[in-house]
Amino acid sequence: MTPSFLQTPIEYLKGIGPQRANVLKREFSIFTYGDLLYNFPFRHVDKSTIHKVCDIQQEGVYMQFRGHVVGYQILGQQRNKRISAQFSDGTGTVELVWFNGLKWVEEILQEKHKDMVIFGKPTLFNHRWNISHPEIIDPKARQENNIPEHFYPLYNTSEKAKKAGLDSKAMAKLTATLLIQHKNSIFPEHLSKEIIDEHHLMSLKEALFNIHFPENQEKLNQANFRLKFDELFFTQLKLLKLKLLTERKFRGHIFAHVGESFNHFYHHRLKFDLTGAQKRVIKEIRADMGSGRQMNRLLQGDVGSGKTVTALLVMLIAHDNGFQSCLMAPTEILAQQHFANISRQLGDMGVSVALLTGSTKSAERRQILAGIADGSIHILIGTHALIEDSVVFRNLGLAVIDEQHRFGVEQRAKLWEKNRIPPHVLVMTATPIPRTLAMTVYGDLDLSVIDELPQGRKPIITAHYFERDRLKLLGFMRQQIDLGRQVFVVYPLITESENLDLIDLQNGYEAMSRYFPLPRYAVGMVHGRMKNEEKDYEMRRFSEGSTNILVSTTVIEVGIDIPNATVMVIENAERFGLSQLHQLRGRVGRGGAQSYCILMTKDQLSSDGRQRIQAMVSTTDGFEIANCDLKLRGPGDLQGTQQSGVLDFKIADIVKDEKLVAYTRALAKRILETDPDLSQPAHQVMADYLRVLMKSEKFWGMIS
Ligand code: ADP
Ligand code: MG
Repeated sequence: MTPSFLQTPIEYLKGIGPQRANVLKREFSIFTYGDLLYNFPFRHVDKSTIHKVCDIQQEGVYMQFRGHVVGYQILGQQRNKRISAQFSDGTGTVELVWFNGLKWVEEILQEKHKDMVIFGKPTLFNHRWNISHPEIIDPKARQENNIPEHFYPLYNTSEKAKKAGLDSKAMAKLTATLLIQHKNSIFPEHLSKEIIDEHHLMSLKEALFNIHFPENQEKLNQANFRLKFDELFFTQLKLLKLKLLTERKFRGHIFAHVGESFNHFYHHRLKFDLTGAQKRVIKEIRADMGSGRQMNRLLQGDVGSGKTVTALLVMLIAHDNGFQSCLMAPTEILAQQHFANISRQLGDMGVSVALLTGSTKSAERRQILAGIADGSIHILIGTHALIEDSVVFRNLGLAVIDEQHRFGVEQRAKLWEKNRIPPHVLVMTATPIPRTLAMTVYGDLDLSVIDELPQGRKPIITAHYFERDRLKLLGFMRQQIDLGRQVFVVYPLITESENLDLIDLQNGYEAMSRYFPLPRYAVGMVHGRMKNEEKDYEMRRFSEGSTNILVSTTVIEVGIDIPNATVMVIENAERFGLSQLHQLRGRVGRGGAQSYCILMTKDQLSSDGRQRIQAMVSTTDGFEIANCDLKLRGPGDLQGTQQSGVLDFKIADIVKDEKLVAYTRALAKRILETDPDLSQPAHQVMADYLRVLMKSEKFWGMIS
């Protein structure tokens, strides 16, 4: 088989007409032979064992029996019509039931005392075991078949597909047909012989066969390993190759000097000394930006570690070298806050800053677009609105992306297009990402880490209170407020019913207002449904200290900076994910005073909920939290990584296969170091496959 075989349209397969082909495409994105073969079963059931009917004990487990039907009846009328048959293997009797396909079933049952193997899930109904819609297997036919069926594959399917006759069984049959039809074809091999031999890997052909229809458990394991290896290795090869290509292809702007605006800001406006980590990171970034290569760098740092001011200093370097910068935030509120902070910090330095978001009015928008185009705006802050095509810079030298859990490789690539010479890109994230995940999600980026908090920060004390401790909570809040501090109270947003959520929030707000009454105290409230002006007004009142308590939904989750707030109360904390809890906690502890995070939960917790709360109480280290989160939830649920696309693994599991991720990255690196173009004859097959993989991605077009 040549690669074009895998790309053969699925319509060519026996048993697939235009209608089924459409269902395959729509429901499973299966367009080609390759897509079908790479549609792996989620599980196999063991058909190697014949059980005894008298051994049925448990519901919901697939079992297989050999025996015959003793008798059957047609019951019910019309839509209730069904066939009930008594199946016996000499050790006991089990009832078989069919609700549709009755005609066909009856034909089979009419042949008396026919030896048959049945396969299905026994369930208990009216105190008797029955199996509905068992699979009937002719033991003789099974021997004639070329496909081993001891381990029978189960495939994910959908209601729509089932209606069109494409249930798991039908998918198995199609796959078997394809594998039998092409049993003797030459399958492509993506890995070099050297790698296959070195790691004792199964050939791709054998693996694709055994992943569906394994001869035994051992073969299934080997097939599994081989396909995971492929998936992870080529992910890394692709990312590292991409990195290599951008480095080679993109000449970077050279920011040769540090000038007037940086120096002025650094010496006269910055109110604190940078931490050692901040200084180191700025050096790393400067070295990158002065190298003549385009920078693509990830800046990791826990909440409150001072990433934003670091980015601002870097933007000033861009300005000193005659270039514009942009700073992109994930939400409107954050963009506004950055804009307010940065404008305030820069003051009348002569660096002009503008804010562009989805809600910028059109007259203002026109003005801003003009300013960006003619270069009179030096720093543009905003949301995703910044990457729209209408935004044309005069000379964009640096793009900073803040708190970006929602940004993939492709979107980054879109930024590169914003200038003839692509801007340097600095991605900042406060969600610490475990190493293996970072290798994959950000595998094409260089990494800088701010691993030090500004001096004088005291670690936040975290406590877990149950509902019954509420009075204690209120007393504590009062004590803090009377010391002049401020308190956040956050409610989760449970999207199924936004109205109910708001009622929760309202009730919380009213309870707080009763307990902390005017005129001595003031309580504010913010939520996502409010108008921007109202939100801003409430936020401003809180940040000025006019309100003592701010009751809110998670709109304050990221970035908001109010140093005088020392208490973060999280209501229904069990409903939040770990990284979200950590983000919320990071909203306090920003000034010099001791800060607290109080996790309120109901009295009964699920084990998952308990583990999350436990993790929060026991550590403030973002990396530990992230690791724990990854273990509890799996990578698919990690905030924002979903959209990044690179985690859409078919078979590998970035948590369970952590070692293989690191191993394949090192291997890919080693290969590219000796043969960056994969031009050695031994690497030809890998180069070919990589080309196929990369062709399907848009950003590839820009650099190939
Ligand atoms: P991050 O974006 O990493 O969460 P910020 O940049 O918002 O953190 O910084 C958090 C707070 O700490 C801000 O009020 C900022 O002015 C302050 N800050 C940043 N760096 C330092 C430092 N080196 N010393 C003291 N305070 C700092
Ligand atoms: Mg920040």
